[in-house]
Amino acid sequence: MRKVDTLLTGGIVVTMNAKRDVIVEGAVAIEGADIVAVGPAERVAGLVQAAQVVDCRGQIIIPGLINAHTHAAMTLLRGLADDLRLDVWLLGYMMPVEREFVGPDFCDVGTRLACAEMLLSGVTTFNDMYYFEEDVARATAAVGMRAVLGQTVLKFPAPDAESYDQGLERCRAFVQAWKGHPLITPAVAPHAPFTTTADILQASAALALEFDVPLHIHLSETALEVQDALRQFEHPPIEYVHHLGLLDAKVIAAHCVHIVDREIPLLARSRAGVAHNPSSNLKLASGFAPVLKMRAAGVPVGIGTDGPASNNDLDMFEEARLASFLPKATSGDPTALPAADVFAMATSEGARALHLHGETGSLEVGKRADVVVVDQGAAHATPRFHLSPHNVYSHLIYAAKSADVRHVWVQGRQLLRDRELLTIDLAEVQAQAAAIAVRINDFMAAREGSLLNKTVAIGGFEQKETYEIQVKAPVEDIEALQARLLATQLPIVKQSIRQQFDTYFLFEGEGRSLRYREDNELAGPEEGGSGLSVRPTYTLTLMEGMHEREYQDSVILSRSRYTAQATYSLRFYREYFNPRREIEVVKWRHRYRVMFEETEFAVNIDQVTRPQGLGAFIEIKARTWSASDAEHKAGLISRLLRLLGLPAGRAVRGEYVDLARQTVL
Ligand SMILES: [Zn+2]
Repeated sequence: MRKVDTLLTGGIVVTMNAKRDVIVEGAVAIEGADIVAVGPAERVAGLVQAAQVVDCRGQIIIPGLINAHTHAAMTLLRGLADDLRLDVWLLGYMMPVEREFVGPDFCDVGTRLACAEMLLSGVTTFNDMYYFEEDVARATAAVGMRAVLGQTVLKFPAPDAESYDQGLERCRAFVQAWKGHPLITPAVAPHAPFTTTADILQASAALALEFDVPLHIHLSETALEVQDALRQFEHPPIEYVHHLGLLDAKVIAAHCVHIVDREIPLLARSRAGVAHNPSSNLKLASGFAPVLKMRAAGVPVGIGTDGPASNNDLDMFEEARLASFLPKATSGDPTALPAADVFAMATSEGARALHLHGETGSLEVGKRADVVVVDQGAAHATPRFHLSPHNVYSHLIYAAKSADVRHVWVQGRQLLRDRELLTIDLAEVQAQAAAIAVRINDFMAAREGSLLNKTVAIGGFEQKETYEIQVKAPVEDIEALQARLLATQLPIVKQSIRQQFDTYFLFEGEGRSLRYREDNELAGPEEGGSGLSVRPTYTLTLMEGMHEREYQDSVILSRSRYTAQATYSLRFYREYFNPRREIEVVKWRHRYRVMFEETEFAVNIDQVTRPQGLGAFIEIKARTWSASDAEHKAGLISRLLRLLGLPAGRAVRGEYVDLARQTVL
């Protein structure tokens, strides 16, 4: 008789071996980290002598569930911002808050909270992508769970790296430090094609190949991402990363919702795994991943919860149930993806998708002892049929709840006993999470209350104040004014004609507005232009609307604005800032840079075409940096006005948005 540590006996054993054997009255023997016997209870009892026997009668013994894609520490951002489009949610909320708060402590607390939640729902292995992954690894290893942990690499500054070189270095150090750990498989995680560059993707693939570790990436999550990729890279995302050699690595591709048919064989041939995240895809309205097609092509598809900020929980029972329903509904075929196949996706196939099938995913001799016992005593588990051993799959997928999970072992160590967490002080973790939530709450309250903070939060703005001295006056006859300007014989350094489409966002409380500008410069005759628009540029400007001082002739000194290139769409800014009102101003602008008394001025002659009836204006502007310089330039502007034959006292105060507001009210 072989001495073993633990014998689970008397339950229905769902092995998820290659034949998917189900043993109605079975047993599993654990010694050290490994499964050493699986079979009918009677036979196993004759083989082993166990230090601990767990009576599993009336229960189901299953392989630990595998959460194929998550961002564990984001438990701490659960419920912070919901019902938003993916780009607004990610770039407008998650990433700015992460840049502010995510550090070693955040990752430690968030990961332990996630581990608690996952163990309580029968998860023994998860695949993570986040920052400070060494802290995630320490927390996970201390809890005793198995995980593939991907250190994120991004093209923009991340909470744990100023630049992508630093991110890659961090990733290399992490992989070196954790490679070979019995529970932790380190991985390289370039976030997604649209948040990285070709260089980053190639370097990430090289790193993953060098250490033979998985590469975890988001691919083809949204239709927009695929459209953008087609425009930018001339390929859909998976074809694009294939051309970069990324698929040579052991890839775990999260989502693949909008995978193009011809990309499926690329994943199959390279033995990449896919993580399917039904809740997240539904909640963010990303779409329905073609799970049937991918599986039919031989691509292993695991099931993931995605991060708890986009789900908002880590319940794999719920996730598996959804994963079973989606392809039925989208194909119109209720026989599609039967319960046993979905259960495989949550266990053995999930392990294959994570490249961990040698260690976990099934109850077989030689694999690590990652075992879960599920109760069948609840009302929703009554009655039970045994017409076929496969009735158990339907019970597990369609009726069982995570609250039915009673015991969990990982690597032979018991982590949950009668729903009591043995390696996590849940009350302590919850108190720590609550304390962090208070700080995040304060930060968000301050940010949402300040347009400047909210604008700066999405990046690109320099928090640098400049001052501008300017005047604006109505013009009756544009051509006559232009003729007068030329007649002054002042040197014109530069000139251009542009059509500007401005969308102003207005907010509660007057004074501040945001301007989104599409600026189309027309190619002039000197460039051989035919008047067709050259590439438009987009800017976002925070207008303070604050006048510091007024000089003679209504020349105004104003605190200048914060301007940045608008890297996102107008739709993004609209959804992110949620303005009370919008006003559109469209104008043709003839812009001159004129030297007057050795000082450069911008002279804009504008014909406003929307709103109609606003008319034409001249603006004269210059940057300024001191009170005496402002005084000097105000005097020059007054003289310039007179030189152009513009009578004093006609100037108007305010931006176009202010004038437009009066006409469109
Ligand atoms: Zn994700």
